[in-house]
Amino acid sequence: MTVRPILPIGHPVLRTRTTPVPRSDISSPRIQGLIDDLIDTMRHANGAGIAANQIGETARILTIEVNDNPRYPYKPPVPLTVAVNPEIEVLDDERVVINEGCLSVPLRGELVRSLNLRVSYTDREGVDRQQVVRGLTAGTWQHECDHLDGILVVDRIDPRTLSTWEQFTEHHQEAFVERITRFVREVGS
Ligand code: ZN
Repeated sequence: MTVRPILPIGHPVLRTRTTPVPRSDISSPRIQGLIDDLIDTMRHANGAGIAANQIGETARILTIEVNDNPRYPYKPPVPLTVAVNPEIEVLDDERVVINEGCLSVPLRGELVRSLNLRVSYTDREGVDRQQVVRGLTAGTWQHECDHLDGILVVDRIDPRTLSTWEQFTEHHQEAFVERITRFVREVGS
């Protein structure tokens, strides 16, 4: 297991659509090692999730984990999830405005995300899984699946809301956390 460098915006691999992993390759040392590296790198950077192309790999794999995250203290917990070949299905028209950051982008800002999703993926043992995810957790899934399609948050953020992390903390965090905490309590995820 290795903490790998996280590629910053501008690197072409972040704009590359990743390739599905053949089922027979999931158990291979290459893919299992890549999954271990994704988990290590995500945890080391305090990310809520990470996509393989953020560490320069074009396999369609993401990991998500939220547990008292210092970057995103308002996010509800999510157990460690490894998703190979994830796909998301938007379940309805409910939307929410989220202020998002990204390990590959030095700015953050507001964008609209769908509230209710069904996610389908294969886990690292090769078992097909489906689950319904809501709220900020649904936002995290959309963020990481966007990466796997070569899309970055800056493509979706309202440019007038772009902010450095420092300026966000100073001027916007309190109102956002107040609103989103109330929201998390209402949707429960
Ligand atoms: Zn990101």
